Amino acid sequence: MRAVTVSPGVPDSLRLTDDWPEPAAEEGAILVEALAVGVCGTDQEIIAGHYGEAPPGQQRLVLGHESLGRVLEDPSGTLRSGDLVAGIVRHPDPVPCPNCAVDEWDMCRNGRYTEHGIKGLPGFARDRWRVQPKFAVGLDPVLAPVGMLLEPASVVAKAWDHIERIGCRAEWKPQTALVTGAGPIGLLAALLATQRGLSVHVLDRATAGPKPALVRALGATYHTGTVDELDLDPDVVVECTGAPVVVLDAMCKVGPAGIVCLTGVSSGGRTIDFDAGALNRALVLENNVVFGSVNANRRHWEQAADALARADQSWLNSLITRRVPVGEYAQAYSATDEDIKVVLDFTA
Ligand SMILES: [Zn+2]
Repeated sequence: MRAVTVSPGVPDSLRLTDDWPEPAAEEGAILVEALAVGVCGTDQEIIAGHYGEAPPGQQRLVLGHESLGRVLEDPSGTLRSGDLVAGIVRHPDPVPCPNCAVDEWDMCRNGRYTEHGIKGLPGFARDRWRVQPKFAVGLDPVLAPVGMLLEPASVVAKAWDHIERIGCRAEWKPQTALVTGAGPIGLLAALLATQRGLSVHVLDRATAGPKPALVRALGATYHTGTVDELDLDPDVVVECTGAPVVVLDAMCKVGPAGIVCLTGVSSGGRTIDFDAGALNRALVLENNVVFGSVNANRRHWEQAADALARADQSWLNSLITRRVPVGEYAQAYSATDEDIKVVLDFTA
């Protein structure tokens, strides 16, 4: 069968293989036919050789962690043949740490977790894959064209879950949310914010392309320029750029008793002149919280599946700016400025 693979650590080793072995029975009881795989920055980093780890004893890693497939057979009876399914990316570490021991693998404490298509587990960019019932998430049939958005949506669902848990430390009636960055994560964060009835503002550098219209279609307000210039007092900021200046501005911008959730990963190595004392004073005197959020556990995947099923399906569809047939796989991994989400199509 077909599989898109790399040799981790070897730049530009991306290949489409036609004779990749069928998924091993120990991967899980549920056999799935791949429909599509979403592509993101993590894939680009793996292809560039910066990141990624093959399963133990193997040379090559199957890419793909944003999955969508159709169940071929499930002898466990968890899902039915024909159901839409996505595979949860992260598996708990073998120790396990206190968090993985209670299935909060998104909060793994020792870093020994594994991840499909990223770290020690084969990815979903292959014609067929298997998954254990515990890591299989069923999707509403309406999500057939867009279900590969479930993985990025799960990341955002976790961010909102933790924002709300932190908010509940005291009386909390948030009204305004600011999302920085209008890529897939930022747009999905804005979607979940509007579903919570918040007044939503999204800031991005882009002045052209599809982003302004996508934000307005949510009933949210689109901004360019700097965070500092915004005439807002947001109760929540979801930071999705990882750009150091934006991150620091977001921390300064959030209103009293505000919460800043950082989801963007900065590359590091850049230093900027910054008044850390003033930031500390503002955080303390306003009871503000800044926290980081990554990955998602099963609860968040289920929350994300509900959120996507309730969303405007044509809006979700317009997040997918290109669908590339597997045979032209290399094009899927070369991002353009016009792209929001590129998808590798296994049905073509
Ligand atoms: Zn762990």
